[in-house]
Amino acid sequence: MQPHSADFPARAADALTDPELRRALTKFKTGFPVNRARAVANLPEFEALRDAAKAVKDHTLSHLDHYLEAFEARVRDSGGHVHWARDAAEARSIILRLATERDARLIAKGKSMVSEEIGLNAALEAAGIKAVETDLGEYILQIRGEVPSHIVAPALHLSKEQVAADFRRTHTHLPPDRPLDQPTDLLAEARGELRDVFLNADIGITGANFLVAETGSTIIVTNEGNGDLTQTLPRCHIVLTGIEKVVPTLADATLMLRLLARSATGQEITAYTTFSTGPRRADDADGPREFHVVLLDNGRSALLGTEMQEVLRCIRCGACMNHCPVYHAVGGHAYGWVYPGPIGAALDPALIGVKEARHLPNASTFCGKCESVCPVKIPLPKIMHRWREVEFEKRLSPPSVRQGLWAWGLFAKRPRLYRLITSIAMRVMGLMGKEGSFKSLPLAGGWTDTRDFPAPQGRTFQSMYKDRRHG
Ligand code: SF4
Repeated sequence: MQPHSADFPARAADALTDPELRRALTKFKTGFPVNRARAVANLPEFEALRDAAKAVKDHTLSHLDHYLEAFEARVRDSGGHVHWARDAAEARSIILRLATERDARLIAKGKSMVSEEIGLNAALEAAGIKAVETDLGEYILQIRGEVPSHIVAPALHLSKEQVAADFRRTHTHLPPDRPLDQPTDLLAEARGELRDVFLNADIGITGANFLVAETGSTIIVTNEGNGDLTQTLPRCHIVLTGIEKVVPTLADATLMLRLLARSATGQEITAYTTFSTGPRRADDADGPREFHVVLLDNGRSALLGTEMQEVLRCIRCGACMNHCPVYHAVGGHAYGWVYPGPIGAALDPALIGVKEARHLPNASTFCGKCESVCPVKIPLPKIMHRWREVEFEKRLSPPSVRQGLWAWGLFAKRPRLYRLITSIAMRVMGLMGKEGSFKSLPLAGGWTDTRDFPAPQGRTFQSMYKDRRHG
C-alpha cells in the first residue's frame, strides 16, 4: 500500500468534518473498550499474563535468528517451505512466482495486514490474478476500493446502510428488492458470494497471528471462520507474515492467545483459532497439498538492538487504537498507512521512513492510555517521543517548530529564567485575555483556528508545586 502519512494534517482535518465518520467513531463509547474492561475484570491474573507475555516476546526478540531458524526447520520437517523476504518487493515477487508457477487464476485471501503492507492485491491484479478478500470487513473494503481503517475491525468506519448500498451496487445479479436492513442480511449475502471463491480458489493466502518455533505451526484467529476455509480448501496455502510473529513454544502461543482476544474485542477467546502445520498428510481428510510461509523483514530487523525494539512485541490486538483519543477523533484513514493509531505512530516511521511518517508520533496527547492497555506493555509514548527526537535531529520539522523548540529548550535549561518568564507571561496573558480567553494568539493558530485559548488564571504550576512541597 502506498503511504500517504505525510498528508496526515490534511487527512485529519477532513476526518474531523466527516459526519458519517464521526457517527461511526462513537462506537468506541460502547464497544471494544467496554468489552475489554469487562473481560479484564473477569480475569484476576490478567496483569501477570501481561508480564509473562512481555517476557516471552523480549526473550524471543533477543534470540530471533535462533527461533526463526528453528521454525524454518520444523516447517521443512512437516513438508512445507519457508521463503525469506527482505522487503515488500521481494515478498510480492515470491508470491507472484508461486502463483504463476501454479497457473493460479483465483486467490482466496484471509485477513492479512502484511499483505496490505506489501500492496499484494494490486501486484496480483497487475499479473492478471484475481484475489478476493474473504474477511467480511475486508470484502466490503475491496468492493469500495478502500483500505482498512483499523487492524482488527477494518470496516469500522462504515455504517450498515453504506454497506447495504455497496452490496446493491455490486451484486447486481441478486433481486433488487431483497432486504438488506440487518447486519445478518449483509453477512448472509457476503457468505453466499464468497462460497464459490472458497471452492474454486487455486491458492489461499492468510496472515499469521503467531508462528510456533517448536512445531513449525502458524496460527490465525478469526471470528468468521473464513481463515479456516481459505487455508484448507485451496490446493496451496501461502502464509504471509512478519518475522516478529514467532514465539518459542505452543504454551507461549496459548499465553498470547489468552491476551489477544481479551485485549482486542473483549472475548475470552476468538471464535476460530486455527493451527496449520505443514500440508495435508496422507491420512488427513482435507487440507492444502502445499504449504508455504513467506517471512517478511521490511525494516523490522533494523529495530533489533535499538531503543525501538520493544515495538516488535506488538501482537496486533488494536487495543491501543481502541483507547486512543486521537484515533477516536480522526479514525484510521487519517494515518495514511496500514497501521494506524498509537502502534502506527510507533511502528510506521521504522517501516516507511521518518520523513513520510513524521506527523504520526506528533499526533498524540501522551495520555498514556495506549501503554496502559497494551497486552505486551509496549511503552508507546516513549517510542513516539524518541521518533519526535529523530524528526528534530534530522531537521524534518518546519523552521517555526524547530525555532519554538529551540527557544523553549533555552529557557527549560535555565530554571530560574524559565520561572521568571512564565510568571510574567502568565500575568500579562491574564490581563490581556478578554472575557477569560483569546480568539487568536501568535504561533498558536493550530489551537485558536478552531477554539478559543483560555487566558491563564492564578499562579504558575511551578510556584504552586513549590509551596506544596515545602508546605
Ligand atoms: S501496540 Fe499493544 S495495544 Fe497496540 S496493537 Fe500492538 S499489542 Fe495491541
